[in-house]
Amino acid sequence: MLSGKSYPHPRQEIWVGAYTDKKSEYFELRTVNETSNDSYSPLWHKYAPLGSAIADFLYDDLKHFESDLNAVKIRVDAINAGQEREQSLRGLFDLAKLWLSDNPLYAPMAAAVERLEVEAEKGNTLNTDEIERMMKEYRAWQPKLKAIAHCVLETEDNGDRDMREKYLAERAKDKARFPILSYGQLHLEAVYSGGNVPYPYDDLLNFGQFSEPTAITAEVLNTEGVSDLICFLLCRYLEANLRFHACKFCGKLFGVVGNYKQEYCSRVIPGSEKTCKEMGSVRLYEKKIFSEPAIKEYKRSYKAHNARIRYGLMTREEFDKWAAEAREKRDTCVAGKLSLEDFVAWLDRDKQR
Ligand SMILES: [Zn+2]
Repeated sequence: MLSGKSYPHPRQEIWVGAYTDKKSEYFELRTVNETSNDSYSPLWHKYAPLGSAIADFLYDDLKHFESDLNAVKIRVDAINAGQEREQSLRGLFDLAKLWLSDNPLYAPMAAAVERLEVEAEKGNTLNTDEIERMMKEYRAWQPKLKAIAHCVLETEDNGDRDMREKYLAERAKDKARFPILSYGQLHLEAVYSGGNVPYPYDDLLNFGQFSEPTAITAEVLNTEGVSDLICFLLCRYLEANLRFHACKFCGKLFGVVGNYKQEYCSRVIPGSEKTCKEMGSVRLYEKKIFSEPAIKEYKRSYKAHNARIRYGLMTREEFDKWAAEAREKRDTCVAGKLSLEDFVAWLDRDKQR
């Protein structure tokens, strides 16, 4: 929540701006500039390592959409009935902030909820159609993104294979799980990278150390759409030859560019202030206790199965299929929904003596 009495209001329109550079992805909520109509004002700005938004989304339990939608409906009904208008608008704003802090991939939905304020301003009756449509889109994308993560982005081979080519090869096999990647228009813009500068959505009382950002030039996607944003990010990941690695500490996938040797993600460990990377780099001996046995078993079996290609006991295609299935089972095991014993039994079911 913001400190102070007022909270920022969108002017006429509110949408998402997104861009990337070699290492990071950037997200903004933008509204029409107060003084010049052909310009925008950023309301919220966030950046993260390239690959973060989609990697984190893979693990988000979308069940929270049900209660979120209910919360939106209650406020929309109140505003339509002319009751508790300010309080309800404030409630919608808080929900938008919550989604943004969960994952910048929810920026289009946060913009949609803030768009309700613009509609209320115009005196229109509000509805939740757009939010519901978006929730449906996120739900439909999640299994596809899991397939894309496991079959395309997560690869142990560190060669220079063009990831875009790899995507199209998967798409040739399964058009439903690997859709056409297309998005709206890009605008060349002067934008910022890095730094820590407060934006209207930031809580000034709890704002960290101020630092100057660097001015950069980037092609920016300006959109209101969920699929637009997802396709844009995927295309940028593929173009950057981004790989997903399973973190050796928490087992979750994270994006790696350039240095493909990276083994730990930068997620904060639950109940700790440290990230997996910090935990991994200090190489505490406790690591042995924490580290995921499922990852070790998967790696062991991966090597054994991979060797079969060389000996002509398995085709590359059979291997790819096995690996994708093995990764899904590994993730289920890391998530605690499959026992380690069952996972190892599955890995070893075709063990050759
Ligand atoms: Zn991790």
